[in-house]
Amino acid sequence: MKRAFKFRFYPTEAQAVELSRTFGCVRKVYNLALQARAEAWALRGERVGYEATSALLTSWKRADELAFLAEVSAVPLQQALRHLQAGFTNFFAKRARYPRFKSRKKSRASAEYTRSAFRWRNGMLTLAKMYEPLDIRWSLPLPEGVEPSTVTVSRDAAGRWFVSLLCEDPSVAPLPTMDAVVGIDVGLDHLLVLSTGERISNPRHELRDRQRLAKAQRSLCRKQKGSSNRGKARVKVARVHARIADRRTDYLHKITTRLVRETQTLVIEDLSVSNMVGNRRLARAIGDAGWRQFRQLLECKASWYGREVTTVDRWFPSSKLCSVCGALKAAMPLHVRTWTCGCGAIHDRDVNAARNILAAGLAVTVCGAGVRPQRNTPGGRSATKQKTPRREP
Ligand SMILES: [Zn+2]
Repeated sequence: MKRAFKFRFYPTEAQAVELSRTFGCVRKVYNLALQARAEAWALRGERVGYEATSALLTSWKRADELAFLAEVSAVPLQQALRHLQAGFTNFFAKRARYPRFKSRKKSRASAEYTRSAFRWRNGMLTLAKMYEPLDIRWSLPLPEGVEPSTVTVSRDAAGRWFVSLLCEDPSVAPLPTMDAVVGIDVGLDHLLVLSTGERISNPRHELRDRQRLAKAQRSLCRKQKGSSNRGKARVKVARVHARIADRRTDYLHKITTRLVRETQTLVIEDLSVSNMVGNRRLARAIGDAGWRQFRQLLECKASWYGREVTTVDRWFPSSKLCSVCGALKAAMPLHVRTWTCGCGAIHDRDVNAARNILAAGLAVTVCGAGVRPQRNTPGGRSATKQKTPRREP
């Protein structure tokens, strides 16, 4: 099983310069290729594939004004074209939006190195065009005998450097099969509500972090545009954002590990965050909770441990349906937290929804149809999206 291990590292000045240049070139190549593909389609109705952009890259390197592209390692540039190709493949398969241009300020700066562009010796990682190995802080040891096949270097808005090592990890093995099943819903007051009646709340520090963020943002607004104080304030905002994201990821890791260990089949709703964000009261709960990340982690771990994640259509009326008799209520305003069905059943809104999601998911597993299922199998797209290197299209 492929698995990514992410660590912080501290570059030397020369390494920081080389990596910053490489990030810039990666962004440039990605944007140039995207522009070439978009123009060819809009003006001539032509599809430009990966091979064609690869040929373009060679010609760009020869052009005087783009000669700097030839000065950095060629591999991350090639990988940028592969990422763009993957973006288009996902777009044509209706899994993703049309690829967007990368911006210097808003996009995460990163560069991906494959096996030919780094050296791995005695646990030391040296990238192409560098003489010294990276000073990596190993927050956990790599499993014995494990070697990276792909290395991604990135720098976040808070100025922190990270290296992610994609490795084949033989220690990941399926867990013994069990019978337990669970339906999971996004709660209103709680992060998640389970069909078992359990509620998983938002992390306690969430509110305090949010106040800190608001304060940093207010301070940023007061600074004059283009001033060095504004630059400092922006880094401060980015640090708070990074801290919130780190803590949330940590929390979601714990929850998803627990759920996957305890359960064989997990049923979730196929929420589209952009749709939900239209609803202002739900927007914060879902944005904060990182539903997308939750799902990604859940699917990834399920595929490691031989579990199954089933999704039910997001238009499935989970809150309006009585999980006992199946009667459908006409409306279920958000302020209604408990309700009594005509059949006499008294429902907690969120738990009832989770039970309906579970029932719908199990119906899918048994009949294979009904609510447009997206079964998650090891090697399926969602489970491996982040964890396997992109292959040649
Ligand atoms: Zn009923």
